[in-house]
Amino acid sequence: MSKSQQRCSFCGREKSQVKLLIAGIDAHICDSCIAQAQSILQEEMASRHEKSIKEIELRKPNEIKSYLDQYVIGQEDAKKVLSVAVYNHYKRITQPNIDEDGVEIEKSNIVIVGETGTGKTLLARTIARMLHVPFCIADATVLTEAGYVGEDVESILSRLLQAADYDVKAAEMGIVFIDEIDKIARKSDNPSITRDVSGEGVQQALLKLLEGTIVNVPPQGGRKHPEQKMIQINTQNILFISGGAFNDMTKIIASRLQTNVIGYNFDKEKEQIDRDNLLQYIAPSDLKKFGLIPEIVGRFPVITYLNPLSKDVLLKILTEPKNSLIKQFTKLFKMDNIELTFDENVYEFIVDKSMEFSLGARGLRSILEAILTDAMFELPSKKTRKFHVTLDYARKKFLMANISKLKVA
Ligand code: ADP
Repeated sequence: MSKSQQRCSFCGREKSQVKLLIAGIDAHICDSCIAQAQSILQEEMASRHEKSIKEIELRKPNEIKSYLDQYVIGQEDAKKVLSVAVYNHYKRITQPNIDEDGVEIEKSNIVIVGETGTGKTLLARTIARMLHVPFCIADATVLTEAGYVGEDVESILSRLLQAADYDVKAAEMGIVFIDEIDKIARKSDNPSITRDVSGEGVQQALLKLLEGTIVNVPPQGGRKHPEQKMIQINTQNILFISGGAFNDMTKIIASRLQTNVIGYNFDKEKEQIDRDNLLQYIAPSDLKKFGLIPEIVGRFPVITYLNPLSKDVLLKILTEPKNSLIKQFTKLFKMDNIELTFDENVYEFIVDKSMEFSLGARGLRSILEAILTDAMFELPSKKTRKFHVTLDYARKKFLMANISKLKVA
């Protein structure tokens, strides 16, 4: 083809009629067709984004709660509060930015207070999975103020971006779980005390993310590659769920309620206070008293709590959730065509041991591993088709395992 005959393969215009003609392998494209293609692409991406927002919108609070019920045992209050908060959050995202009546709905970031291993991470992760939004876990204890050794708060967003496969729009609708937020509390409730790097400084840095601003994020995370190109992420619609054990929080609540964790109170109103479960009365002022700065407390308008896990609950956790440990191990054995079964009292044994060693729900897994490791090692290369775990077998394997040393530790 001679130069004078070159034409755009899309609109047919000749080279002389266009500003620019770019050659491909077998075709050409002119500047106006490029511009048009670009706007089609933008429209398509925007409509896909809209579509993903609509998919999120479909879940009503009771649907969110029923979904959580499949994976999380008990914790009814927390599940209800979370369902409403998550529903409101995504309802807010799906609204056009400025409402005619000028009412702007604030973000419902959430704090979950509860002992370690009671399901804080599980709840946040399950919500993200249900909504199909990117999810990441950030450990507050490794965060530091910019300029100090440790991770910048921006690293949280790098992780979210990675979870979103570098789709910025998706990341901007994601969920971040900040674990151990209680560990960055300032050491004293007295704000006049000199700023401490580990606590208040990090809270100040976090505040920036929570407030909803555009943050420059190093895509690979870390500070080791100062030359890497930053990606801008708007945190306005990212839902932050934070969790912490907040040790001794019950004392703060008790003193606010002017009652005592033990002892009697004859005041009629106070009599109704359930002293065995004071966490249920948690209020923003308690978080402040614990050492979270008021601005941070203000950015977490939703507060909920988790109950400690009782023996009954642990038993259910072991067997009932959709992906309970027993179901997971049964499936693993099934993949080798082995039918795995247990004596009922083995479940109780596992729970008892987990409670005895204060291992909580996490201990269930390590104990079950200890009991089944030998079988999982040997059986796949044998012709066994059935494997039944008796109480004696479980006890024997448990005693042989290192876990039994924990009691001495
Ligand atoms: P936390 O974040 O509160 O420390 P996790 O959510 O990591 O605790 O829970 C620890 C383990 O215990 C997880 O494997 C989780 O599956 C299990 N678990 C804890 N609480 C529950 C619950 N209420 N229902 C089902 N599983 C639970």
